[in-house]
Amino acid sequence: MTTRRKYTVFLTGASSGIGAAIAKQLVAHGHQVFATARRSDALAAVAKDAEKNAGQGGRIITHAMDVLDRAAHAEAVERCTAEFGGMDVTIPNAGLGIFSPLDKAELVDWMTMVDVNIKGVLTTLHLCLPHLIKSQGLVINIGSVASRNVFPNSGVYCATKHAVLALGEAIRQDLKDKVASTTICPGAVDTAFIEQTKDAALLDQYRPGFKKGMQPEFVARQVLNAIDARGHGIVSDITIRPDFL
Ligand code: NDP
Repeated sequence: MTTRRKYTVFLTGASSGIGAAIAKQLVAHGHQVFATARRSDALAAVAKDAEKNAGQGGRIITHAMDVLDRAAHAEAVERCTAEFGGMDVTIPNAGLGIFSPLDKAELVDWMTMVDVNIKGVLTTLHLCLPHLIKSQGLVINIGSVASRNVFPNSGVYCATKHAVLALGEAIRQDLKDKVASTTICPGAVDTAFIEQTKDAALLDQYRPGFKKGMQPEFVARQVLNAIDARGHGIVSDITIRPDFL
């Protein structure tokens, strides 16, 4: 992967929030984006917006899939490389947080976070790494300030994001000279993220902080920056925070 090229990007969680912003900005800068998530209607809306502002060569293909469905995931990766002729960048962005104190949590919610945030990311990485090794590509993981700190009411979410940061570091160590790795660790971002939390009191407590959070486009800018850095150096990890954090 050399600098100032147009890249092919495999992206999960592209139907809303940070993933949608990443898809639109990449297409606006002339990159080719294979945009996945479960909701095909929301993906179609993202694609429509992206196409309106596409830069030269910018393209988007949407593909509905659940990151937990391994066969569907494999099919998506195969379609991406077949239609775009390879893969340069993988962004396993799909993820969620269901906040609750440990003693009030439902086990099923812990398992959902572990499944999507860790196993989903692992599945994406396992399927994409062979293609990235071929292209000497780049993984951009979406960590969090919760990748290094543990916050009240979100212990399991924080554990999953610690895992994401560890995986980025593992790629750096094991695949030096083959695949580069960037982990972006944002603080609060104004997306639908907090709406997964079921505890009404916690929702009331947390919503205003996320509302005042960074715009998802600011996270997307860090993605572009990590891609543009190729050929000059590697942005290994970057933490971005709203003014109040
Ligand atoms: P959103 O809720 O807006 O987006 C989550 C995305 O993940 C959606 O596109 C959703 O798509 C997708 N997704 C969830 N489960 C699955 C699944 N099983 N299979 C496929 N796709 C799935 O939240 P954000 O944009 O904020 O979150 C994106 C990432 O950013 C997450 O990894 C999150 O942990 C991280 N992050 C968010 C922060 C924030 O403050 N918002 C801060 C730091 C990190 P669909 O429902 O269509 O499948």
